[in-house]
Amino acid sequence: MRKVLLAGSTNPWLRNRATRTAFVRRSVSRFMPGEQIDDAIRAAAELKPRGITTILTKLGENLTAVEEAEEVTLHYLDVLDRIATAGLDAEISVKPTQLGLDLDRALCERNLDRLIARAEQRNNFIWIDMEGSPYVDPTLDLFRRTRAKTARIGIALQAYLYRTEKDVESLVPLGARIRIVKGAYLEPSEVAFPRKGDVDANYFKLCTRLLAPDARKPGALLHIATHDIPLAGRLAAYIAQQNMPSSAYEFAMLYGIQRGQQMRLASEGRRLRVLISYGEYWFPWYMRRLAERPANVWFVVRTMFG
Ligand SMILES: Cc1cc2nc3c(=O)[nH]c(=O)nc-3n(C[C@H](O)[C@H](O)[C@H](O)COP(=O)(O)OP(=O)(O)OC[C@H]3O[C@@H](n4cnc5c(N)ncnc54)[C@H](O)[C@@H]3O)c2cc1C
Repeated sequence: MRKVLLAGSTNPWLRNRATRTAFVRRSVSRFMPGEQIDDAIRAAAELKPRGITTILTKLGENLTAVEEAEEVTLHYLDVLDRIATAGLDAEISVKPTQLGLDLDRALCERNLDRLIARAEQRNNFIWIDMEGSPYVDPTLDLFRRTRAKTARIGIALQAYLYRTEKDVESLVPLGARIRIVKGAYLEPSEVAFPRKGDVDANYFKLCTRLLAPDARKPGALLHIATHDIPLAGRLAAYIAQQNMPSSAYEFAMLYGIQRGQQMRLASEGRRLRVLISYGEYWFPWYMRRLAERPANVWFVVRTMFG
């Protein structure tokens, strides 16, 4: 089921049909407060009184024209301004391919530099998402290059990839902000652990490595980005056992997923950041969310019948 849904996520015919279908649009609203930035800002403002901070991300990937990358960059520059005006503790997360990585690497770097410059002005922070495995090297290059100039940059790394352990090790000396995720793309067994048990074990290992004393440098922060409650619980127990300061880590989850757990973490006073997605190009992202939990497909079917 996971493979079928992930293969469907890149199918243009399916995308065209699904995004025009009312019941699919209705079921998407569970994970996305709306298609516009105003919807995301409103959702972030609603979470603020509960002590939940946010990350905003505009959906879209693999652009085909330089003009689109410019549009995305201008959009995010405006988002950084809007966040400041709204007085929110909200960061932004961008996909390198949204900034033009596939089209022209130098252009992508320039666009990221523009966002970093605005983040400096607005006292904000930029995350780089990790996309499919062919993008890992260029994304790490982009991150390292930017991290050499500023601490206002963080990167997502995927626990399902065999290589991530080495990548983490290479980033430890930088004192980087790192978001550990399990990984959302369809990857072959040559590059990624096929079994969930192995991914979970690697997730725990990567997080504990990033919490080790030599990794806790100024500017370092671990984002424990998972909805896996037992795994997050094991990490929380490890953190308590090690007497770790709360400044060393944050939990992170996606808007609309495990809401109960989100409220529980917030009411316990844990640092939690919720990633809010918005935008019109939601189909591949939505299919990845369905693939993460096939039970969601039944939710879609139920929505179909009202
Ligand atoms: C803040 C954040 C940022 C992310 N950034 C990236 C990124 O840059 N690159 C990338 O590849 N991936 C990213 N992801 C997605 C990630 O890789 C996983 O695909 C996703 O988080 C599901 O894995 P899990 O850790 O929650 O564990 P899983 O083992 O998949 O899920 C654990 C449990 O959580 C619940 N759950 C998980 N997903 C869903 C869902 N969609 N709907 C309902 N319940 C669900 C279910 O109860 C499930 O049993 C990000 C995730 C988060 C939270």
